[in-house]
Amino acid sequence: MANAVKIPTDMLPEDGRFGSGPSKIRPEQVAALDAGATTLLGTSHRQTPVRQLVGSIREGLESFFKVPDGYEIALGNGGASCFWEIACACLITRQAAFGAYGSFSSKFAASASKAPFLEEPVVFKGEPGTYRLPELTEYADAYCWAHNETSTGVAAPVRRVEGSAEQGAITLIDGTSAAGALPVDVSQTDAYYFSPQKAFGSDGGLWVAVLSPAAIERAARVEANVNLPGVSRWVPPFLSLTSALENSRKDQTLNTPAVATLIMMENQVRWLNDNGGMEWSTARCSKSASLLYTWAERSEYARPFVTDPAARSHSVVTIDLDDAISASAVVQALRENGIVDTSGYRKLGRNQLRIGVFPSVEPSDVVALTQCIDYVVERLQH
Ligand SMILES: *Cc1c(COP(=O)(O)O)cnc(C)c1O
Repeated sequence: MANAVKIPTDMLPEDGRFGSGPSKIRPEQVAALDAGATTLLGTSHRQTPVRQLVGSIREGLESFFKVPDGYEIALGNGGASCFWEIACACLITRQAAFGAYGSFSSKFAASASKAPFLEEPVVFKGEPGTYRLPELTEYADAYCWAHNETSTGVAAPVRRVEGSAEQGAITLIDGTSAAGALPVDVSQTDAYYFSPQKAFGSDGGLWVAVLSPAAIERAARVEANVNLPGVSRWVPPFLSLTSALENSRKDQTLNTPAVATLIMMENQVRWLNDNGGMEWSTARCSKSASLLYTWAERSEYARPFVTDPAARSHSVVTIDLDDAISASAVVQALRENGIVDTSGYRKLGRNQLRIGVFPSVEPSDVVALTQCIDYVVERLQH
């Protein structure tokens, strides 16, 4: 520990968790676990107490996203990664078009490419640090991209591809690190899906989707057709969107959920709505992100990775450092002082910090973080 840097205690953020998912869980969410220690934890998800919890999450999200008439909130086990497979099995009819500009947006495209009953997807590739939306594609029946590319800190617009509605195509948006942190008009989507361990500050393992009537109808039709002779598609029961929805309507999940995840998520959705809903949470994230971008722009050794200010994420902030300063040494020194999970996405391989500024993170802690980074960098150089 020859180069150990000790940050003065009074400079440290109150909470040192800046991960991009899993992310900071507020103490009140953990207290909610304690409050449900004997009434919710270790009890049946088919009985009223846990079903009320699921019901509260569904109602809370309807209100948070101001869902249009006919849209429904569905949930199930497996996280956003599982929803990609659900979408391949139940939502893409023949061929999908993808915007791919980072690790997460590319993974869904890779799944669709592997599904033997789907045609090779059309992939519109963008460079890391930028976004690229799919373009109108002749036979596409689904258009897919990520609202926020977590691996690079890029936020993309969410609006239907012009002409796609006339084609009868649906729009599937990965909102995993955006939902709860970035503004969205879900009427521009048919499935807006996410996991709870990012802006909702809960644990992983669950997927949640805001589904349009068109998506619900598409899944019902695709799943009904798979029983016809000559149709080769197999929809594993675990991936059936229709049965996930039927269970969700009863405030249940197909199979056993992690009740702790539900408790913490319910607490967060209520907290967001009580504070003013999407307007409040997105303004808070925007403030935290802009504190970081402004600091980086003024810094002599740091700069925002995403060059287009309009594409800079307000939930996952990526900051490049000068080559003379090792990001991994900075990340390590921060960790030794209790400031954790600030490293860049491994596969992106840049000399970079990546900082999650979801609604649970206090903007004052973001200011403290920038001062701690300056403190560490100054000492590492000498
Ligand atoms: C984290 C993340 C995922 C994967 O979520 P899991 O819950 O781990 O399956 C997918 N897409 C995006 C954009 C993410 O940030």
